[in-house]
Amino acid sequence: MLIAAARLFDGDGNSIVDHPLIHVEDGRIVSVTSRPASSIDSPNLLDLGDVTVLPGLIDIHQHLAFDASDDPVTHLADVDDATLLLRMRAAALRALAGGVTTIRDLGDRNYVSLTLRDWFRSRAEVGPTILTAGPPLTTTGGHCWFLGGEADGEDGIREAVRQHAARGVDQIKIMATGGNMTPSLGPHESQYTAAELGAAVQTAHAMGLPIAAHAHGGQGIADAMTAGVDSIEHCTFFTADGVAADPAVIAELGRRRAVVSVTAGSIPGTGPTIPAIAKRMAAIGANHAALFRAGARIVCGTDAGVGPNKPHDVLRYAVSGFLPAIGMSNAQALRANTSVAAVVCGLGDRKGTIAAGKDADIIAVPGNPLDDITCLQQVLAVFVAGNRIGESRLVNDESALSFESA
Ligand SMILES: [Zn+2]
Repeated sequence: MLIAAARLFDGDGNSIVDHPLIHVEDGRIVSVTSRPASSIDSPNLLDLGDVTVLPGLIDIHQHLAFDASDDPVTHLADVDDATLLLRMRAAALRALAGGVTTIRDLGDRNYVSLTLRDWFRSRAEVGPTILTAGPPLTTTGGHCWFLGGEADGEDGIREAVRQHAARGVDQIKIMATGGNMTPSLGPHESQYTAAELGAAVQTAHAMGLPIAAHAHGGQGIADAMTAGVDSIEHCTFFTADGVAADPAVIAELGRRRAVVSVTAGSIPGTGPTIPAIAKRMAAIGANHAALFRAGARIVCGTDAGVGPNKPHDVLRYAVSGFLPAIGMSNAQALRANTSVAAVVCGLGDRKGTIAAGKDADIIAVPGNPLDDITCLQQVLAVFVAGNRIGESRLVNDESALSFESA
């Protein structure tokens, strides 16, 4: 297949290429050249016309198991794993239709996301690439304990990481602090000691797995950084009643080029629905701007699924809204959730740019996103491994998708 368009942003550079011609075979990009579609006479030509093509977006923090309603925790508790799996499939396909071709799922229940990951990976159905963490590690009764990942003490944490690895997860997720969905302790409070986080990092890395730490409070952020986690999720510097970031921690996160997964994105016309976040959002944004200036690697994770303003296709609003607002150029914002996110996910050799050898995960948007990044909000076409979404999406019989508990 030959895909032609008016413009291309390759996910890595600073500029637009005119008249790109992308040669795709067996789901991979064979070559990218520049040639007007009008000069090509081939039955395999697909001319997308006056659009900009760019790499599929990568959301580094989603929860496919949460249904983006006003009470995702209760709704999750109400369904069995077989029903949950079908609900997660629908969420993943919604993300894909909105241009999200790779999803890092940072917390499911009972490893259901592994079944969904493998379903799409087997090409039984065309879907996004999913990287899964399984149930996040948390203290007994701690943040999101109901997902089933309770682990206490250094030995308990090591054992839990080994169990996750044995199940075949792609990364470990650990709740360094409390959070906003579980009232047991405040987001600003640490759940684990620095030594416990160190044990988690050491064991995960020994098993060949990256580890992401959910951290709101300043102490939890500092401990997660010192422990050497591969990404800090949220990084909001919550205190009991506001936000306060230690400038030394911001400077050190920058010096380390730490990956900071900033939580952003809501459907237009809405803001954060959790009051504790809404009242802190301006201060959180200011600290994320400071982290970006200091040199931290900023990537958006939407936390899609946790509320009604965060459906699973919401990433495009975060990339086009929040990232420019903290000081990124349009090219930097587009690179964040394409080429930078691919490296963060360990998929830099397959995803994140439109280049020879990469998976043909491609989206098309109107206009020129370097001039006006809001055109990203209108995704006109999505290809995943060379398959155009909306056309022959279902390759096989979906009744073959079922959850088998291990
Ligand atoms: Zn989350």
